[in-house]
Amino acid sequence: MHSRMEWKGHIQNALKEDRFVPWFQPILDLKNGTIRHYETLVRMIDKEGAVVPPGMFIDTAEALGLIREIDKIIIEKTLKFQSELLKEGRQFCFSINLSAKDLDDRELLGFLKNKVMELSTYGERPIFELTETAAVHDLGRAVKFIRDLKSIGCSFSLDDFGVGFTSFRYLKEMEVDYIKIDCSFIKMLAESKNDRLFVKAMVDVAHGMGVKTVAEFVENEPTIKILRELGVDYAQGYFVGKPAPEI
Ligand code: C2E
Ligand code: CA
Ligand code: CA
Repeated sequence: MHSRMEWKGHIQNALKEDRFVPWFQPILDLKNGTIRHYETLVRMIDKEGAVVPPGMFIDTAEALGLIREIDKIIIEKTLKFQSELLKEGRQFCFSINLSAKDLDDRELLGFLKNKVMELSTYGERPIFELTETAAVHDLGRAVKFIRDLKSIGCSFSLDDFGVGFTSFRYLKEMEVDYIKIDCSFIKMLAESKNDRLFVKAMVDVAHGMGVKTVAEFVENEPTIKILRELGVDYAQGYFVGKPAPEI
């Protein structure tokens, strides 16, 4: 409790002092070996200038209703960064994390639509990654949120797929474009026959529904090779590149 109140203070100060920044991690297209996608991952810069990872503050921010403010800042900064790159002739697509609780929020929907519409017509529309889908209170409203953003060219991805709260049911009902296979299936892929079977099953179902697949936590070359054999579309992880403030 004490620590949560302390973190609440840190988060509020960081919001006031504009100390939340996006970092970017590359996503490799396994079909053609190119990198055109990055995932945006939030970092807090503390008062001494040290970089604080989201594991330290996301739970508290979600519990205390501060996550929306952080997500809005990260969306705004990512799209601004994308526009700057575009002016230099560099075309990239960004995946941005949304808290599933955000899907109940009409105000946020309006904000997102405005920000996406401000993007030049050449700018690729973002992919929004959803975790903790069980936190969606009203599935009908969430689907409307997703459809609204898809109608202006955005895409959606189910994060941490295969564990916890994501499931095939959400794949069907939420009309997503990508699944991100959870790291627990990828870490030991070369050693575990079961994990290869699970990944294969997820890929079959996803592709059957016209949904693309991304593997996260890809840390070595053998994993890349297996992912290609299993028909996974994209790979993300330290072997491809670590998150960094620049791309
Ligand atoms: P996630 O969306 O599943 O992001 C992947 C996490 O795994 C990132 O941690 C990334 O740095 C880490 N990672 C990627 N590849 C590797 C690898 O090969 N090895 C290892 N050991 N780690 C790898 P990070 O940046 O600490 O983010 C943690 C979580 O915080 C994210 O998990 C996401 O759920 C949440 N998050 C991050 N940024 C945002 C944001 O802007 N908004 C919201 N709502 N949540 C965010
Ligand atoms: Ca994510
Ligand atoms: Ca994930």
